[in-house]
Amino acid sequence: MIPARYGASRFPGKLMQDLAGKPVIVRTYEAAKATNLFDEVYVVTDSEIIFQEIEANGGKAIMSQKEHDCGSDRIAEAVENMDVDIVVNVQGDEPFTSREGLEKVLAVFNEPDADKIDLASLMTEIHDWKEISDPNCVKVIVDKDNFALYFSRSPIPYPRDKNVEMQYYKHKGIYAFRKQAIMDFYRLPMRSLEAVEKIECIRYLEYGKNIKMAVSNTTGVEIDTPEDLIRANKLLKEKKPNAVNNKFRNFPMVPKVVFGEGCFDQLTSILSAQKQEKAPFIFLVDDVFERNKEFLDRINLRFNDKLIFVSTEEEPKTSQVDDLVKKIKAEFTNTPSGIIGIGGGTVMDLAKAVSIMLINKGSAADYQGWDLVKQKAVYHVGIPTISGTGAEVSRTTVLTGPVRKLGINSDFTPFDQVILDPELTKGVPKNQWFYTGMDCFIHCVESLNGTFLNAFSQSYGEKAYDLCKEIFLDDSLSEEESRAKLMMASWHGGMSIAYSQVGVAHAMSYGLGYVLGTKHGVGNCIVFQYLEEFYSKDVALFKKMVKKHGVEIPQEICKNLTEEQLNSMITVALGMVPLWENALGSNWEEVITYEKLRELYLKM
Ligand code: NAD
Ligand code: ZN
Repeated sequence: MIPARYGASRFPGKLMQDLAGKPVIVRTYEAAKATNLFDEVYVVTDSEIIFQEIEANGGKAIMSQKEHDCGSDRIAEAVENMDVDIVVNVQGDEPFTSREGLEKVLAVFNEPDADKIDLASLMTEIHDWKEISDPNCVKVIVDKDNFALYFSRSPIPYPRDKNVEMQYYKHKGIYAFRKQAIMDFYRLPMRSLEAVEKIECIRYLEYGKNIKMAVSNTTGVEIDTPEDLIRANKLLKEKKPNAVNNKFRNFPMVPKVVFGEGCFDQLTSILSAQKQEKAPFIFLVDDVFERNKEFLDRINLRFNDKLIFVSTEEEPKTSQVDDLVKKIKAEFTNTPSGIIGIGGGTVMDLAKAVSIMLINKGSAADYQGWDLVKQKAVYHVGIPTISGTGAEVSRTTVLTGPVRKLGINSDFTPFDQVILDPELTKGVPKNQWFYTGMDCFIHCVESLNGTFLNAFSQSYGEKAYDLCKEIFLDDSLSEEESRAKLMMASWHGGMSIAYSQVGVAHAMSYGLGYVLGTKHGVGNCIVFQYLEEFYSKDVALFKKMVKKHGVEIPQEICKNLTEEQLNSMITVALGMVPLWENALGSNWEEVITYEKLRELYLKM
């Protein structure tokens, strides 16, 4: 529910102000809707103008029948006769409402103490004394379980002893209520604490309700003043080039790389320069090497260094990253000197994510997205043992989280050092060699045929594409040459998409991965064979490669899907907007519809 009053006292008419082409309230409505967290989203308003604007934009709005003092009352009236469990209030003037915050406020209702909770709300860490002492900024203090003790415009607690470390929190006006709580609020009269502070949610405390607070540190822009609006407009403009056509990316590259058969043995000397006193190196190694004594003997563990075997049975998960970080922190007081990932794309991604999460607070899931990582990661080294993903060179680490499959895309993600030793890829089974190799081929196809293409990504993409053709279609290469070339193809393919984007096969493969757990490489292959209408020449080449190597591509994997599974597969794929934009341009929605994807999936 988005309560929307036309005449806000501080900035009248603000909800109807223009924000990059649409009124603020419409932006807020669309942002709430886009989170996909709610069964229904409504604007509840006293204003004909707002009501009509929302309806005109295809949204749902409710007119308040009565005069109300506050947003909660407006919502209470609207839900009184609705059959709902939990109502979430989203502020009308928060057009940058993020999924992350709303998710957190809803997540508390799944925790063990959920039955004690009447409502939940959000708080953000604040540090600046100017903000802490600003009466416009409502502070909150909590008990050990994060239940709110009090809200105030005064700085609470008062810092009498300046030596005690104290985290201050600002209250964010997003609530999730049990229906009963909001109906009670509506009926109960205001008391003096609420009246004197002018803070609505104090009423709940005054009547003994339990408010659970969740921490969310993503900052948005509230539109409280005309200056805020100018800032918000700027923010949207700055965001656009990134989201729409990826113009002028300023991305980091791997600063150090060593290449060649046998160069793996240089690892020890490379690491010695990075060794910090008492701080171990942590080796994350694909468990396929667990019984390969000869290989393990080449890893020189010194002092308190630790080797952890990692299973690659499933796609890497945020929870797996969190567990690894917890384990490392429990065992070592010092932050490790470095994380060394040895394995395929799965281990590369885990190593990158663990190195980030050893420094950055919270769960890996908090950082899925673009540029959410604030602090530099621990020194990390990538050593691929299978070629194709480009994960050794990329700026992302793809993780399956509680609600989505998305990378931690940041300047701190890429490795500080990569060791490219083609010999390490010797033992890769044939099918796997093909699937992961095709990931590279498909990166090139999608980058070279995409609308984001530029000379930078083209030069890398063309090289990698030619290498793939040589490796998978020519007979002239020795095994050794072929291994070395595939390793370089993977690298170049990764560089190519760094400045463009992947396309149709990846978008649809993510859908398979999310619903069926299909692994990335094989998922791409399953999809790619049905994409003639998008990449006709390359699909023909692909089929030739499949035939030449006698590789099996799993068939009929969508045959027994339930409607619900199919629906969520299509939804996940449709959500990969930048991929579709790259593949088909800004009018992609004319080609890619729900029905179209359904038809394609049903072929698989
Ligand atoms: P993988 O890491 O899952 O490994 C595939 C299989 O090969 C595993 O069973 C592994 O044990 C085995 N293997 C690896 N090296 C071997 C060796 N030398 N000998 C024998 N067996 C070996 O597969 P992948 O295709 O390399 O990586 C896929 C993952 O990479 C996916 O999770 C995908 O999301 C991710 N990915 C990330 C990026 C990125 O930019 N970060 C890009 C593409 C893909
Ligand atoms: Zn890929």
